[in-house]
Amino acid sequence: MANNEDQFKKVISHAKEYGYIFGSSEIYDGLSAVYDYAQNGVELKKNIREYWWKSMVYMHQNIVGLDAAILMHPKTWKASGHVDAFSDPLIDNKDSKKRYRADVLIEDHAEKLENKAQKEITKAKKRFGDSFNETEFVTTNTRVIGYREKKAEMLSTMAHLLEAEDLSGVKALIEELGIVCPVSGSKNWTDVKQFNLMFGTKLGASAETATDLYLRPETAQGIFVNFLNVQKTGRMRIPFGIAQTGKAFRNEIVARQFIFRMREFEQMEMQFFVRPGQEMKWYDYWKQTRLKWHHSLGLGPENYRFHDHEKLAHYANAATDIEFKFPFGFKELEGIHSRTDFDLKAHEAHSGKKLQFFDPELKENYTPYVVETSIGLDRMFLAVFSNSLQEETLQDGSTRTVLRLPAILAPVKIAVFPLIKRDGLPELAKQIIEDLKWDYNVFYDEKDAVGKRYRRQDANGTPFCVTVDHQTLEDKTVTIRHRDTMEQQRIAISDISGLVAKSLSMKDWLQ
Ligand code: ATP
Repeated sequence: MANNEDQFKKVISHAKEYGYIFGSSEIYDGLSAVYDYAQNGVELKKNIREYWWKSMVYMHQNIVGLDAAILMHPKTWKASGHVDAFSDPLIDNKDSKKRYRADVLIEDHAEKLENKAQKEITKAKKRFGDSFNETEFVTTNTRVIGYREKKAEMLSTMAHLLEAEDLSGVKALIEELGIVCPVSGSKNWTDVKQFNLMFGTKLGASAETATDLYLRPETAQGIFVNFLNVQKTGRMRIPFGIAQTGKAFRNEIVARQFIFRMREFEQMEMQFFVRPGQEMKWYDYWKQTRLKWHHSLGLGPENYRFHDHEKLAHYANAATDIEFKFPFGFKELEGIHSRTDFDLKAHEAHSGKKLQFFDPELKENYTPYVVETSIGLDRMFLAVFSNSLQEETLQDGSTRTVLRLPAILAPVKIAVFPLIKRDGLPELAKQIIEDLKWDYNVFYDEKDAVGKRYRRQDANGTPFCVTVDHQTLEDKTVTIRHRDTMEQQRIAISDISGLVAKSLSMKDWLQ
């Protein structure tokens, strides 16, 4: 496909056209950065969630699940630090009245320098042709080096200012760089202010007695406040984990890139409680285990990388992101954090309740340390979907659009077609569905020529198509067609289920 931007546009329109994702409340022109999962999307999302859940909860005897409420006692967010520190630096342009994240304005400005460097590289590539050595060029060309040094300096100045919470310094930097509002083109900026990302709401009927609440900005805190409940009732011994999936809400200022950054999204989090001092061992274990999980889906190991954090959040003593190569570049897909005993200690302090574990081996009480794995379900959806969408040129020169979703995640597993709409073939096809539907999500289609129906299912991501023809009436065999290879096989009706089951074995995928 032409370039990354085109590819991304294609992903978004394909997601809509094939019933995966719609904009929220579209008939009212939509709601910014909020999306609905359509008939296929909801299945793909459910399958990703299940693949994660089983790999966490069923594959580990010491991990159990939880489904905590979205609404929590307001003190939760004081203890977690979200009331005081979960904010982005904002700046308004006085002429356009548009609001921006100050750090994003600076990052975008810095990116322009990288674009200039890229232009130099493209120009040189053209000039030198086959003899072009890119590594040598970028390390010796003064213009490229200059652009990149300037970019790095800009970002490092910004990082220092943000870390020191020097908001007037951030504004001064924006002015010094001569950054203009993309809408009005003016440099007429307000001061930079911190803006909390939590959505507020009210509990209770009357204005006087209502309590101010927040929609949870992460699912993790529901796990921490239930730590002792689960440990006691499940008679869990350290090390053990609690896994949870569910909605989280963030009033993101710059919400863009489709479902990559949404205001309402779903997380899949697991908090693993360990002995103090053993957190680094478990941190490494979860880093490797999570990467293996990603690789198991076959999207290509070259599309993942770790990005270890140098600057750590106040609660962490080690942190890394698993980044994925989205159509717009490598970006965070999952976070793995060693959170120390920060959260449990903070909840102890704010609630006055002890959140400790008596270790029978050490014969002592302690506050466990926590290693967290936290992945956005919607981001995982985007990773799988964008990576799977491919356009192929076939041997006869024609092209086909194929959504190569891992079979275990595909919304529809089997499409069943009668070759033609008469001679009892539709009835027989429907009979086959009656049998398969107990185990699989099956789709029936009798419209258009079979070749066209195959292509529709290719684009829909369906791994298997079964065609019923006149021979089926005689010998109870069908043609089964494989999406990825387009290979066709003649098999007995009674063998369809077994053949499909083989390609969906969780054991085979995960191992
Ligand atoms: P980012 O730096 O992209 O804002 P984050 O570091 O704030 O993400 P975490 O708080 O670590 O994210 O949340 C864990 C995971 O939740 C992320 O790795 C991401 O997959 C997902 N996530 C976070 N914010 C959003 C969002 N606004 N929309 C969709 N997914 C999100």
